Amino acid sequence: MTSKNSKHKAAMQKQKAAVDASVEAASEERGIAVLLTGDGKGKTSSAFGMVMRARGYNQRIAVIQFIKGEMLSGEEIYIRDKCPDVIFIQMGTGFTWDTQDRTSDMRAAEKTWAATRPLLADPEIDLIILDELTYMLAYDYLPENEVIDAINNRPREQSVVVTGRGGGKRLHEAMDTISEVKEVRHAFRDGVKARKGVDY
Ligand code: ATP
Ligand code: MG
Repeated sequence: MTSKNSKHKAAMQKQKAAVDASVEAASEERGIAVLLTGDGKGKTSSAFGMVMRARGYNQRIAVIQFIKGEMLSGEEIYIRDKCPDVIFIQMGTGFTWDTQDRTSDMRAAEKTWAATRPLLADPEIDLIILDELTYMLAYDYLPENEVIDAINNRPREQSVVVTGRGGGKRLHEAMDTISEVKEVRHAFRDGVKARKGVDY
Protein backbone atom coordinates (compact mmCIF):
# COMPACT_ATOMS: atom_id res chain seq x y z
CA MET A 1 0.00 0.00 0.00
CA THR A 2 2.72 2.41 1.01
CA SER A 3 4.72 1.57 -2.10
CA LYS A 4 1.58 2.06 -4.20
CA ASN A 5 1.09 5.48 -2.60
CA SER A 6 4.67 6.57 -3.14
CA LYS A 7 4.58 5.35 -6.75
CA HIS A 8 1.41 7.36 -7.28
CA LYS A 9 2.99 10.41 -5.70
CA ALA A 10 6.09 10.13 -7.90
CA ALA A 11 3.93 9.73 -11.03
CA MET A 12 1.84 12.77 -10.09
CA GLN A 13 4.94 14.86 -9.44
CA LYS A 14 6.32 13.90 -12.83
CA GLN A 15 3.01 14.77 -14.47
CA LYS A 16 2.83 18.09 -12.64
CA ALA A 17 6.32 19.00 -13.83
CA ALA A 18 5.34 18.22 -17.44
CA VAL A 19 2.12 20.22 -17.19
CA ASP A 20 3.91 23.16 -15.54
CA ALA A 21 6.49 23.16 -18.34
CA SER A 22 3.75 23.21 -21.01
CA VAL A 23 1.90 26.01 -19.21
CA GLU A 24 5.16 27.94 -19.07
CA ALA A 25 5.77 27.36 -22.80
CA ALA A 26 2.30 28.60 -23.79
CA SER A 27 2.88 32.32 -23.97
CA GLU A 28 0.49 33.44 -26.70
CA GLU A 29 -2.77 35.04 -25.63
CA ARG A 30 -5.48 35.11 -28.29
CA GLY A 31 -8.85 33.67 -29.29
CA ILE A 32 -8.99 30.01 -30.28
CA ALA A 33 -10.67 28.26 -33.21
CA VAL A 34 -12.18 24.95 -32.13
CA LEU A 35 -13.69 22.25 -34.33
CA LEU A 36 -15.87 19.59 -32.73
CA THR A 37 -16.40 16.86 -35.23
CA GLY A 38 -16.89 13.08 -35.50
CA ASP A 39 -19.83 10.69 -35.66
CA GLY A 40 -20.56 10.39 -31.93
CA LYS A 41 -22.93 12.36 -29.73
CA GLY A 42 -21.54 15.42 -27.98
CA LYS A 43 -20.53 18.10 -30.48
CA THR A 44 -23.32 20.65 -30.10
CA SER A 45 -23.72 19.99 -26.38
CA SER A 46 -19.99 20.61 -25.90
CA ALA A 47 -20.27 23.90 -27.78
CA PHE A 48 -23.09 24.98 -25.47
CA GLY A 49 -20.90 24.00 -22.54
CA MET A 50 -18.50 26.70 -23.74
CA VAL A 51 -21.39 29.16 -23.99
CA MET A 52 -22.08 28.52 -20.31
CA ARG A 53 -18.41 28.87 -19.49
CA ALA A 54 -18.06 32.17 -21.35
CA ARG A 55 -21.22 33.53 -19.76
CA GLY A 56 -19.66 32.86 -16.39
CA TYR A 57 -17.19 35.61 -17.28
CA ASN A 58 -19.90 37.87 -18.75
CA GLN A 59 -18.38 37.47 -22.18
CA ARG A 60 -20.23 38.57 -25.28
CA ILE A 61 -21.54 35.52 -27.17
CA ALA A 62 -23.15 34.79 -30.53
CA VAL A 63 -24.65 31.43 -31.45
CA ILE A 64 -25.52 30.65 -35.05
CA GLN A 65 -27.18 27.32 -35.81
CA PHE A 66 -27.01 26.10 -39.39
CA ILE A 67 -29.51 23.43 -38.58
CA LYS A 68 -31.78 21.18 -40.46
CA GLY A 69 -35.51 21.43 -39.82
CA GLU A 70 -37.45 23.31 -37.22
CA MET A 71 -37.22 21.01 -34.24
CA LEU A 72 -37.00 22.88 -30.97
CA SER A 73 -34.14 22.08 -28.60
CA GLY A 74 -33.65 22.77 -24.91
CA GLU A 75 -30.65 24.96 -25.67
CA GLU A 76 -32.71 27.12 -28.03
CA ILE A 77 -35.47 27.53 -25.44
CA TYR A 78 -32.95 28.32 -22.72
CA ILE A 79 -31.03 30.89 -24.73
CA ARG A 80 -34.13 32.59 -26.10
CA ASP A 81 -35.84 32.72 -22.68
CA LYS A 82 -32.98 33.17 -20.27
CA CYS A 83 -30.09 34.72 -22.16
CA PRO A 84 -31.28 37.92 -23.84
CA ASP A 85 -27.65 39.04 -23.95
CA VAL A 86 -26.65 36.15 -26.23
CA ILE A 87 -27.06 36.82 -29.96
CA PHE A 88 -28.95 33.82 -31.30
CA ILE A 89 -29.53 33.15 -34.99
CA GLN A 90 -31.01 30.00 -36.44
CA MET A 91 -31.24 29.07 -40.08
CA GLY A 92 -34.22 26.89 -39.32
CA THR A 93 -37.06 27.59 -41.64
CA GLY A 94 -37.82 24.97 -44.16
CA PHE A 95 -34.34 23.54 -44.30
CA THR A 96 -34.32 19.78 -43.91
CA TRP A 97 -32.28 17.03 -45.46
CA ASP A 98 -35.34 15.88 -47.38
CA THR A 99 -36.68 19.14 -48.76
CA GLN A 100 -34.67 18.29 -51.90
CA ASP A 101 -34.95 21.95 -52.74
CA ARG A 102 -31.37 23.00 -53.18
CA THR A 103 -32.18 26.52 -54.28
CA SER A 104 -34.23 27.41 -51.21
CA ASP A 105 -31.76 25.61 -48.93
CA MET A 106 -28.94 27.66 -50.39
CA ARG A 107 -30.90 30.86 -50.00
CA ALA A 108 -31.50 30.05 -46.32
CA ALA A 109 -27.80 29.27 -45.83
CA GLU A 110 -26.70 32.47 -47.55
CA LYS A 111 -29.11 34.59 -45.55
CA THR A 112 -27.79 33.09 -42.31
CA TRP A 113 -24.21 33.55 -43.45
CA ALA A 114 -24.91 37.22 -44.28
CA ALA A 115 -25.95 37.71 -40.65
CA THR A 116 -22.94 35.75 -39.39
CA ARG A 117 -20.19 37.54 -41.30
CA PRO A 118 -20.38 40.87 -39.43
CA LEU A 119 -20.30 38.98 -36.12
CA LEU A 120 -17.05 37.28 -37.19
CA ALA A 121 -15.64 40.77 -37.72
CA ASP A 122 -16.92 42.25 -34.47
CA PRO A 123 -14.22 42.60 -31.79
CA GLU A 124 -16.92 43.01 -29.15
CA ILE A 125 -17.84 39.33 -29.55
CA ASP A 126 -15.70 37.01 -27.44
CA LEU A 127 -17.17 33.68 -28.46
CA ILE A 128 -19.02 32.68 -31.59
CA ILE A 129 -20.58 29.25 -32.11
CA LEU A 130 -21.15 28.08 -35.69
CA ASP A 131 -23.23 25.00 -34.98
CA GLU A 132 -23.46 22.46 -37.82
CA LEU A 133 -21.51 24.74 -40.17
CA THR A 134 -19.59 21.83 -41.67
CA TYR A 135 -22.63 20.66 -43.63
CA MET A 136 -22.94 24.04 -45.33
CA LEU A 137 -19.45 23.51 -46.69
CA ALA A 138 -19.92 19.83 -47.49
CA TYR A 139 -23.02 20.57 -49.56
CA ASP A 140 -21.49 23.66 -51.15
CA TYR A 141 -24.27 25.79 -49.76
CA LEU A 142 -21.74 28.42 -48.74
CA PRO A 143 -18.53 29.52 -50.49
CA GLU A 144 -15.70 27.76 -48.66
CA ASN A 145 -13.13 30.49 -49.39
CA GLU A 146 -15.29 33.19 -47.92
CA VAL A 147 -16.11 31.18 -44.79
CA ILE A 148 -12.49 30.19 -44.16
CA ASP A 149 -11.27 33.76 -44.76
CA ALA A 150 -13.85 35.16 -42.34
CA ILE A 151 -12.76 32.66 -39.68
CA ASN A 152 -9.05 33.33 -40.27
CA ASN A 153 -9.47 37.11 -40.30
CA ARG A 154 -11.70 37.41 -37.26
CA PRO A 155 -10.60 39.70 -34.41
CA ARG A 156 -7.58 38.38 -32.56
CA GLU A 157 -9.36 38.00 -29.22
CA GLN A 158 -12.42 36.26 -30.63
CA SER A 159 -12.85 32.51 -30.23
CA VAL A 160 -14.90 30.48 -32.66
CA VAL A 161 -16.37 27.01 -32.24
CA VAL A 162 -17.50 25.05 -35.30
CA THR A 163 -19.47 21.83 -34.97
CA GLY A 164 -20.50 19.09 -37.37
CA ARG A 165 -19.13 16.01 -39.04
CA GLY A 166 -16.40 16.36 -41.63
CA GLY A 167 -15.66 19.91 -42.67
CA GLY A 168 -12.83 19.37 -45.12
CA LYS A 169 -9.13 20.06 -45.22
CA ARG A 170 -9.28 23.85 -45.41
CA LEU A 171 -11.53 24.15 -42.37
CA HIS A 172 -9.25 21.79 -40.46
CA GLU A 173 -6.26 23.96 -41.38
CA ALA A 174 -8.00 27.03 -39.98
CA MET A 175 -8.53 25.42 -36.57
CA ASP A 176 -6.30 25.54 -33.49
CA THR A 177 -8.05 22.73 -31.66
CA ILE A 178 -9.85 19.79 -33.26
CA SER A 179 -11.67 17.16 -31.26
CA GLU A 180 -13.29 14.16 -32.80
CA VAL A 181 -16.21 12.66 -30.88
CA LYS A 182 -16.23 9.00 -31.75
CA GLU A 183 -19.32 6.88 -31.51
CA VAL A 184 -18.65 3.90 -29.32
CA ARG A 185 -22.34 3.24 -28.73
CA HIS A 186 -25.53 5.24 -29.15
CA ALA A 187 -28.86 4.43 -27.46
CA PHE A 188 -30.67 5.09 -30.73
CA ARG A 189 -29.19 1.90 -32.14
CA ASP A 190 -30.99 -0.08 -29.42
CA GLY A 191 -34.26 1.58 -30.33
CA VAL A 192 -34.25 4.12 -27.51
CA LYS A 193 -35.98 7.35 -28.46
CA ALA A 194 -34.13 10.67 -28.47
CA ARG A 195 -34.51 12.08 -24.96
CA LYS A 196 -35.59 15.56 -23.98
CA GLY A 197 -32.78 17.26 -22.05
CA VAL A 198 -30.22 14.76 -23.29
CA ASP A 199 -30.52 14.61 -27.06
CA TYR A 200 -32.41 17.84 -27.72
P1 ATP B 1 -25.52 16.64 -29.29
O1 ATP B 1 -26.40 17.77 -29.79
O2 ATP B 1 -26.30 15.70 -28.46
O3 ATP B 1 -24.26 17.12 -28.68
P2 ATP B 1 -24.15 16.18 -31.78
O4 ATP B 1 -24.17 17.62 -32.00
O5 ATP B 1 -22.81 15.54 -31.54
O6 ATP B 1 -25.13 15.79 -30.60
P3 ATP B 1 -25.58 15.83 -34.28
O7 ATP B 1 -25.07 15.07 -35.44
O8 ATP B 1 -25.64 17.31 -34.39
O9 ATP B 1 -24.75 15.37 -33.00
O10 ATP B 1 -27.01 15.24 -33.95
C1 ATP B 1 -27.83 15.73 -32.96
C2 ATP B 1 -28.80 14.66 -32.51
O11 ATP B 1 -28.53 13.40 -33.08
C3 ATP B 1 -28.79 14.43 -31.00
O12 ATP B 1 -30.08 14.13 -30.62
C4 ATP B 1 -27.89 13.23 -30.84
O13 ATP B 1 -28.18 12.42 -29.70
C5 ATP B 1 -28.18 12.45 -32.09
N1 ATP B 1 -26.96 11.71 -32.49
C6 ATP B 1 -25.70 12.15 -32.46
N2 ATP B 1 -24.84 11.18 -32.84
C7 ATP B 1 -25.59 10.10 -33.11
C8 ATP B 1 -25.31 8.76 -33.53
N3 ATP B 1 -24.06 8.36 -33.76
N4 ATP B 1 -26.37 7.91 -33.71
C9 ATP B 1 -27.62 8.32 -33.50
N5 ATP B 1 -27.96 9.55 -33.10
C10 ATP B 1 -26.97 10.44 -32.90
MG1 MG C 1 -24.91 18.89 -33.43
